[in-house]
Parts: sequence; C-alpha cells; structure tokens
Amino acid sequence: MTDFKVVMIAKSIQQAIIIGGGIGGLCTAIALRQIGIDVKVYERTKAFERVGAGLAGWANAMRALRKLGLADQVIEAGSVFGRAEIRDPSGRIFQSGDFAELERPRGEPSVAIHRAELHRILVSVLPHDILHLGTKCTGVKQDADKVTVQRADVQTDQTDCVIAADGLHSVVRQQLFPGSKLNYAGRTSWRVIAATQDQAPLTTISQTWGCGQRFGFVSVDPHHVYWFAVSNLPEGQTYPPEARKEFLIRRFQGWHQPIEHLMDVSPAETIVEALIYDIDPLTLKAPRRVPRW
Ligand SMILES: Cc1cc2nc3c(=O)[nH]c(=O)nc-3n(C[C@H](O)[C@H](O)[C@H](O)COP(=O)(O)OP(=O)(O)OC[C@H]3O[C@@H](n4cnc5c(N)ncnc54)[C@H](O)[C@@H]3O)c2cc1C
Repeated sequence: MTDFKVVMIAKSIQQAIIIGGGIGGLCTAIALRQIGIDVKVYERTKAFERVGAGLAGWANAMRALRKLGLADQVIEAGSVFGRAEIRDPSGRIFQSGDFAELERPRGEPSVAIHRAELHRILVSVLPHDILHLGTKCTGVKQDADKVTVQRADVQTDQTDCVIAADGLHSVVRQQLFPGSKLNYAGRTSWRVIAATQDQAPLTTISQTWGCGQRFGFVSVDPHHVYWFAVSNLPEGQTYPPEARKEFLIRRFQGWHQPIEHLMDVSPAETIVEALIYDIDPLTLKAPRRVPRW
C-alpha cells in the first residue's frame, strides 16, 4: 500500500475494531495506530497464554516487522537462520542454499521464533486498554456510515471499520462470504518446541521429505528447537495428546538424526496437533457489504 493510500484511508476512518488478537490482528492494530487510527481489539480468549510452537519469519515478514518498529526485538528474542537444507529420510541432502540472495533486496534476515514470544512482543507495545479479552464477536452489521459489531455478551459497538483477523474459523468471513468453506488439505501437522540444541545447527532451517510425510526443524533460541511433522491422513484421524508421540515415533522410525532425538526429548503433552485447511480464494462476486438492517 502506498503512503498516499494510507493517508486517504486515515482521513476517512478514525476508528477501527479488529476481531482477533492473534499475530495478524495485533500487527494490524500496531500499524493502524501508527497512522493515527483509534483501534480496539476484540479477542475471545480470556487471557493470552504461552501457547503454540514456532514460526519462521522470512525476510519479507521481517521487513514488515521493521516498519512496525519491532524487527530488532524479534531478532533478539528469536534465532536468525541463513541456510536451508532439504534431505531425504536417510539424511542425504538433495537441496540446500544460503539466503543471501533472498535477504539482500529486503535488507533483513530470516528469524525463527516461539510463537508465544512474537505474540508477547506484539502485546507489549500496545496499550492494554485497547485489548478487550474475553470479547467474542458473533457478527457484524453495516449501515451507510458505520459498522456494528455484535458480541457474545449481547453488547454491540459501532465503529468506522471492522477488520476480521479471527483466524481459520472466522465468523466474520463466513458472514461476508457465506459460500466460502474450509478444504482439508489431506494432511495433519504436529508442532513442538523441544528443550535441546543437540544436533540442530543454530542457523539452518531443515526439512526432510519422505513419502506422504515431512519433518522440519529450526532453532528458535540457543536452548530450544522448533520441530514439526506433517503426514497425509484422512480428515478427522486425530490422536489424543498421550498417543501422539508414540504415533510419530512409529511414523518416522528410521529417519535420520536428530529427528528421533527431537521426538525423544519432547514430552507427549507438548505436541500440538493441527489439521491443515485452506480456503478457496474469495471472489469479488461475494457481497462486499453485509445487508443493511
Ligand atoms: C493459539 C494459537 C497457536 C498457534 N501456534 C502456531 C505455531 O506454533 N506455529 C504456526 O506456524 N502457527 C501457529 N498458529 C497459527 C498462526 O499463528 C496463524 O496461522 C498465523 O499467525 C495467522 O494469524 P491470524 O492472526 O490470522 O490468526 P490466528 O493466529 O489464528 O488468530 C486468530 C485469533 O482470533 C481469535 N478469535 C477467533 N474467533 C474469534 C471471535 N469470534 N471473536 C474474537 N476473537 C476471535 C482467536 O482466539 C485468535 O486469537 C497458532 C494460532 C493460534 C490461535
């Protein structure tokens, strides 16, 4: 977005409500405050807890975080990686590369970080009174000039603009684009932060590709490695926390180190399971405004 457009938007919109206090919602809140918009964030969870596993912020994401004034804090809290390796299950590298080419035009490194650390940094630069925790949005209604946000506690709020950052199961997206649906991608993922550094080089992001399954890992700080596993599975074939580790050890048996080591040092209850979904692109034919009252 050009600076010109930003100024035009800021002139017509003085207030905004952002639905969802995840990474997207909080980054948007910080950006809108930078151009003078009065923002409130509605987040359904009652408290931000230290949940999730790791995220890789590539150079373009770091450039966006630089604009938000947060790149140095994220680099400090995470771990810079400058090399990628792709292996087969025996450990043979079949592709590798350094990121100098990717990073040079953007002037930023790529950084892996615990999702909770990134989230903590975003929360720390926002005034607490704009974060409305325990506030669940149930829908939006628009009239000629304002948008009304409906809340699960039956209160309503009016504002100039609503930004839906309420994640995969967004109620706002479903209302605005009733035809949109989640498509199961045919695979399920498991994510963990493991307390170890053994055999995981600090500056390399690594993936191993097998038949219908993948394993990846990267350091998020000098004492922790983020690892993830992905496997083709029928939708709904999930595992309770205590069964996940055993399933994964069986599934990745015989794969090169440190894969077995990373699974060994990870308590079963820390393994986060998530089915992978995408949505079809939202078409412009869908109503851009919800019906009037
Ligand atoms: C708890 C959590 C842990 C995650 N851990 C990882 C991870 O370890 N690695 C990884 O790669 N990705 C992880 N993800 C996904 C990743 O953060 C997102 O896919 C990505 O950052 C995009 O963020 P988002 O802000 O669009 O959506 P999300 O991060 O999904 O955030 C959506 C937010 O909206 C809130 N919300 C939803 N519905 C409503 C409603 N009706 N009213 C008010 N609030 C609502 C949710 O509670 C959530 O905080 C995680 C997401 C969550 C929510």
